[in-house]
Amino acid sequence: MIEIPTKKSIEVVDITSQVQKAVEESKLENGLCLVFTLHTTTGVAINEGEPGLIQDILNLMSALVPQGVGYMHDRSDGNAHAHLQAVLLGNSATIPVEKGRLILGTWQRILFLELDGPRRRRVYVKMISD
Ligand code: ZN
Repeated sequence: MIEIPTKKSIEVVDITSQVQKAVEESKLENGLCLVFTLHTTTGVAINEGEPGLIQDILNLMSALVPQGVGYMHDRSDGNAHAHLQAVLLGNSATIPVEKGRLILGTWQRILFLELDGPRRRRVYVKMISD
């Protein structure tokens, strides 16, 4: 389990090094690593961690699903936009592992997206051996 104390209402956290550490601690040599967020207002994506792109991703989320425009869920809990953004992003990523290392392209990072923070978040990491 990876614990992520987020600091802002919307935020992208690069968790690649934490996932790699979990792979090493598990002693998995070859297989798959599943990264699965345990929340309904967060997302997981694999993409570049360049700060400008991170801001572009957050801007895209706000443009696609703006806050407070009459969602039904806002009647009970004012965070419908965050749930809907999470639906678009998806809640997991699967990364190949070879010789105990995550197989990621040069620019690929594992990104955790906070959409309704700040909160204490948890990401479950499951190793599947060949
Ligand atoms: Zn809600």
